[in-house]
Amino acid sequence: MRTLDNIRFVLVGTTHPGNIGAAARAMKTMGLSNLHLVAPLHYPSAEATARASGADDVLAKAVVHTSLDEALVGCHQVYGMSARLRHLPVPVVNPREAVTSIQHYADDAQVAIVFGREHSGLSNDELDRCQHLINIPANPDYSSLNLAAAVQVMAYELKMSFDPTIEAGRVGEIREAIDASDLEHLYGHFEQALTTIGFLDPQQPRNLMRRLRRLYNRADLDRNELQILHGILRAAETQRGQEK
Ligand code: SAH
Repeated sequence: MRTLDNIRFVLVGTTHPGNIGAAARAMKTMGLSNLHLVAPLHYPSAEATARASGADDVLAKAVVHTSLDEALVGCHQVYGMSARLRHLPVPVVNPREAVTSIQHYADDAQVAIVFGREHSGLSNDELDRCQHLINIPANPDYSSLNLAAAVQVMAYELKMSFDPTIEAGRVGEIREAIDASDLEHLYGHFEQALTTIGFLDPQQPRNLMRRLRRLYNRADLDRNELQILHGILRAAETQRGQEK
């Protein structure tokens, strides 16, 4: 997996320590661990630890700074998270668009993602420090997410783009694809077995085979499932043979 180690989340002026804990938890669930805090109102705090709920390791290594400048030392690119779409000179992108460029930079440089205060967001001076702005497209009439919820959305998008096992589609069982000739073979087997067991009358086939084709074409069968169906048909044929 491409590394998320070069990405730091910077929370500026957080008022509620519970949000710091919830942000740490949100980050850890997505494999992020570099948390930087700029002048938090109450920190360390028992409430932060409680809300981190098992992500205390992320909290324990969180770095506290007195200024945003200090938190950005060593960062090549700075992304600011903004709930408001003001008339800003910097282009604003959504998280999904942003991760493409973040991935590009984070390969060999430090990238910061900066989150603002619960009540007032980031100041204009702080927004000026960001080369890029990210807005989570939300309800235009109610667009401000809870701080930790915004952290979660951004962390999730990073995880989705950095982890190749997710890009591949499924985690877990690998489904082996089948092709059209496998399906034809299956339908041939159905026809033969259903005739053998007396379910299909070749003289009066009605639309049975067409309906079965429609059913199994919808099912997006993989090789394993195909083999199960052949097995069931063979068992039915054998059973019938023994009865006769
Ligand atoms: N009332 C503040 C919002 C504060 S929410 C304001 O209007 O700016 C706290 C922080 O969460 C914001 O500063 C921002 O960093 C992040 N955030 C919340 N909602 C967001 C959204 N829709 N898009 C991007 N960031 C968001």
